Amino acid sequence: MQLYTFIDWFFTIASLLITILLGIYLNGAGCLIGLLLYLIYPVMIEFSYNLMSAKQEIIIKTMPEIPIVYHDDYNITACGIEKWHPFDSCKYGNVYRQIRQKINDKHLTPEMLSRGTFLFLGMSKWYLFKMCYSAYASTLIELPVFFLPGAFLRSCLLDSMLLATSGSIYAARLALEKGWAINLSGGYHHASLNNGGGFCIYPDITLVVNYLKKYRNLNKIVIIDLDAHQGNGYQRDFHHDSSVYIIDFYNPYIYPGDHEAEQAIDCSVHIDRDTTDEQYIKLLQKNLEKHLQNDMQFIIYNAGTDIMAGDPLGNCCISPAGIQRRDEVVFKWANFKKIPILMLLSGGYQKENTFAIGESILQLIT
Ligand SMILES: [Zn+2]
Repeated sequence: MQLYTFIDWFFTIASLLITILLGIYLNGAGCLIGLLLYLIYPVMIEFSYNLMSAKQEIIIKTMPEIPIVYHDDYNITACGIEKWHPFDSCKYGNVYRQIRQKINDKHLTPEMLSRGTFLFLGMSKWYLFKMCYSAYASTLIELPVFFLPGAFLRSCLLDSMLLATSGSIYAARLALEKGWAINLSGGYHHASLNNGGGFCIYPDITLVVNYLKKYRNLNKIVIIDLDAHQGNGYQRDFHHDSSVYIIDFYNPYIYPGDHEAEQAIDCSVHIDRDTTDEQYIKLLQKNLEKHLQNDMQFIIYNAGTDIMAGDPLGNCCISPAGIQRRDEVVFKWANFKKIPILMLLSGGYQKENTFAIGESILQLIT
């Protein structure tokens, strides 16, 4: 257990005990002292322990044999509560094990980056403060968990997402070294620097772009977003930013329908349940050929698999073979243009998606 998690739980339990004891031995009004402590301690800790931390360098101490980034703590388990959600929150581990059956090479395990680093990369301090409270966080993850102590949500869910966000940044660093890398999570494309939604809390795509700009001096970055949903989070962050080129294939008839964010897209392609594998691949080939320029310095590929037939959220009908073909096409173009590419898994949380992701990654590696 990390020191921060220990302190978090210590204050949660202490403030609840104080509330109960003062209620019993003093009077009802005495409870207020404990409740006040319960309400204000998360912000005090967030400020003193996290937000005062320094920014750090992104250093890979030992270069892995294959450029895959994964940590067991990506998987979200919360005493069974996660089963209430329609998503398979352990897909990362399932994909990892599937790859592991055929490839035994060493991967990269990321560390949790400091809050100082996230702030340096542009995260909003106010947004991180708000995330201290379940009542706010529950609206972003679409689970009725507003009544749970914030410490529970942080240790079971938010820290996993923040670690996966750190993983995306480590994977970007790795892609610059190796030409390509895959983070077996991330792709939280509905999150922006100061807001979230659609199960996306931390804006890893925006943070990767800012990492490439601030730490590596890149200024021509392309985001290829092939998740079924529009990537409105980073689109809001990079509206009017000419250093980021956005290609987004999405179903316009589903969440989020963010028309203001759409204005940031440079190449917008609409797909729906009538788009076949063949049509999809043709559209992809055509648009990559037209929009990928030789002077582009980095590709962030958001490879959501919720375009697969049967996915209740994506409402499209691409087959598992179509997913493999899609990933192959994107990687081939990146390779042809000699642009480093970072792949993020993004949406697609059915059991069938997991197998298709594993097979597709294996095809890319072998
Ligand atoms: Zn999606």
